[in-house]
Amino acid sequence: MYRVNEIFFSLQGEGFWTGTPMVFVRLSGCNLRCPFCDTNHAGYEELSAHEVVRKALDAGGDCRRICLTGGEPSLQTDAALLSAFHEAGYTVHMETNGTRLLPAGVDWVTLSPKEDVPGLMGDGRVVLERADELKLVFDGTLPEERLAYWSAFPAPWHFLQPCDVAVPARNREILRRTISFVETHPSWRLSLQTHKLLGIR
Ligand code: SF4
Repeated sequence: MYRVNEIFFSLQGEGFWTGTPMVFVRLSGCNLRCPFCDTNHAGYEELSAHEVVRKALDAGGDCRRICLTGGEPSLQTDAALLSAFHEAGYTVHMETNGTRLLPAGVDWVTLSPKEDVPGLMGDGRVVLERADELKLVFDGTLPEERLAYWSAFPAPWHFLQPCDVAVPARNREILRRTISFVETHPSWRLSLQTHKLLGIR
């Protein structure tokens, strides 16, 4: 059984697949605590792999692309869940903090490392050795040497995403620094939380 917070259909708001319809399967629980985390870690229902896929089909209609997210989806994702999705014709994405090795069969891995997050609780060290995209949440203060470290991480796409903060003036400054970094480091691209800008999930 899998502990599932929610399953919903929307457009991917961030990174390489921005604008692409996806079914989001939010799995409960995380091995880290980030100060800015807005995930509901409490409520969940326990579902079998078949029931998870059934709910994804109900939510997404003809869409056959899902994103396993969380929480930290690697805590629960296993071969049985991936097989159930593949048998139903899905391409499986996962958004992970990279602190755990992944089962074979995830079709697109988005690594969003948290090891540089100030005030992080838990061991955020990344053990993944590659990803399909790296998405680094940027608060405007990350030292140049850490940005250089992540620049060298083996992923074909590197996205810098300004941290979504509540104070508008600070938010603008973070955005300015993010754009400045991308302009001077053109192997990176800007990622925005477009779903929040659009007022969708
Ligand atoms: S890794 Fe993600 S889900 Fe876990 S605490 Fe941090 S922001 Fe929240």
